[in-house]
Amino acid sequence: MKKRTDCLEALGHTCTAMGSERVTLLFSELEALNLGSLHGNQVIAKPKSVEDVQICVRAAGATGCSISVVGGNHSGFGKSGDLVLEMCYFTSVRMADIAAVAATDASRESALLSIGAGVKLQDLSIQAKQLGLVVPLGTAPTVGLGLVLQGGVGHLTRQLGLAIDAIRSVQLVTATGEVLDVSQTNEREEKEQGKQKDRPWTEKLSQVGQEESLTDLHWALRGCAPNFGVVTSITLQAAPFRHCNTVRKVFEIGEPPSRAGCLRDYMAWSSKLPMDCSADCCLYFKDKTAYSSGNPTANILMGIYTFDFGSGAPDVELPTRPALLWEIFREQQDISELMEHEPYLCEQPEGIVHEGFLSKRGFFVRALFFHKEAEIHTELIESISSAPTQHCYFHLQHMGGAVSDQKDSAFLAREAEWSVVISGVWQSQDDSFATEALACKTWVMQVVEQLLPKSLGSYATDLGPDDQHLARYSFGHKTSLLLELKKKWDPDNLFRHGFPLASLSKGYD
Ligand SMILES: Cc1cc2nc3c(=O)[nH]c(=O)nc-3n(C[C@H](O)[C@H](O)[C@H](O)COP(=O)(O)OP(=O)(O)OC[C@H]3O[C@@H](n4cnc5c(N)ncnc54)[C@H](O)[C@@H]3O)c2cc1C
Repeated sequence: MKKRTDCLEALGHTCTAMGSERVTLLFSELEALNLGSLHGNQVIAKPKSVEDVQICVRAAGATGCSISVVGGNHSGFGKSGDLVLEMCYFTSVRMADIAAVAATDASRESALLSIGAGVKLQDLSIQAKQLGLVVPLGTAPTVGLGLVLQGGVGHLTRQLGLAIDAIRSVQLVTATGEVLDVSQTNEREEKEQGKQKDRPWTEKLSQVGQEESLTDLHWALRGCAPNFGVVTSITLQAAPFRHCNTVRKVFEIGEPPSRAGCLRDYMAWSSKLPMDCSADCCLYFKDKTAYSSGNPTANILMGIYTFDFGSGAPDVELPTRPALLWEIFREQQDISELMEHEPYLCEQPEGIVHEGFLSKRGFFVRALFFHKEAEIHTELIESISSAPTQHCYFHLQHMGGAVSDQKDSAFLAREAEWSVVISGVWQSQDDSFATEALACKTWVMQVVEQLLPKSLGSYATDLGPDDQHLARYSFGHKTSLLLELKKKWDPDNLFRHGFPLASLSKGYD
């Protein structure tokens, strides 16, 4: 180890003076340490230990190279740094040492899971089940820690909160290569509850001690972690394992104006469900033939997917009475089985989205959060009707319930009842579909612009360096504290390939 450190220190001194060759030098040095390999002008490193991560980060910092991290690789931004860290060796899931985690409420600390940064959601849910536990996650099997660090909306959200709400501690390698175990303390919660009015949030960090500074960092990591360093592991609050009964109903929603009425009915009905039930809704086209017949708008389907974890979800109630096309009831599923049957991946008609769309199709996604009173049904129906391909769809992911309970994080849209995911999907990732790709991206951004004024904000997890405009709506009034923390923990903006936090401050550089 000493040898490695010495080597990188020397590398740092040398590279700083080397101008344009510095990247190559960094790469070859990491290669020599068997930590990474050179790909064009990037190094792809697959660290095996926290120490390896430190070495990589210090080397990048010393040479002014940017760093990106790959978790589940679903955002498209993890592979853009000069130095790319793939966390594929960090896959452990185990019960955490309870005593090691600072607790604010002993009753909530009964079951904690320690999760490596390379774990995928389905593997995590399977391993949690083996321990008799569940954790609130997203709904797709192969998504990774990027989701858990920036939000995490899934079927258990109404009951257990967002994935970030379950985070109790984070092991972070900072921009200087320091390893921090950042956990929750009472202080931030007290501030949020107004018990420390004499010490407002924007208090200068220089005036406060390290403990307070780490409390602020813990607050920032829950929603905006990729901007602050490399997360090597997290500790998640788990809950006792539970099964779920699902009902999936697909309706033909007819001609206007009844179509918008159907969506309004779904929104009114679902927002009154008990906390242990949730109901997602997808709007999509019936089939390829219908779309190409020249009248795609006559063929929009509405899928309503009800997830009941306990009290028994009431039947879908839609006073506009659309025609029921088909219905599937599944009893006693667990979270990982639910991921296998994710509605928009599996149960839409073949040729629309269907399985494998990630590997075959191209897609561009942005999501906005909405309050239960938001009047957006007409806009959504009109927008889906004007989608540029038959593969485009909207997914209303149900939130509400426990989301508003926890405020101790950077996440803004605590009053959201839905995350509306606007997906532009085109036939193939192949270059010959570039025109379709552009049309889909343009359409998604037009829908976003139209809906933004009625929203509670944009979902940070989808946003990258080119999304400065939308990024302003992700953290709202919390942005100033996030920027203050960013300046403290990553002054050179080494972590700049995901959510564009630094670009929200004119004076950052
Ligand atoms: C098919 C699909 C389904 C989805 N379903 C849901 C859903 O149900 N609910 C939901 O809330 N969202 C969902 N999303 C959005 C998802 O939350 C984001 O795409 C998320 O960024 C993906 O995380 P990842 O780890 O898979 O991707 P990555 O691209 O690997 O990572 C995303 C970002 O996090 C950073 N990051 C990853 N790991 C680390 C780490 N260890 N330390 C520091 N930074 C890190 C990366 O650098 C990158 O900026 C879905 C996306 C897709 C494509």
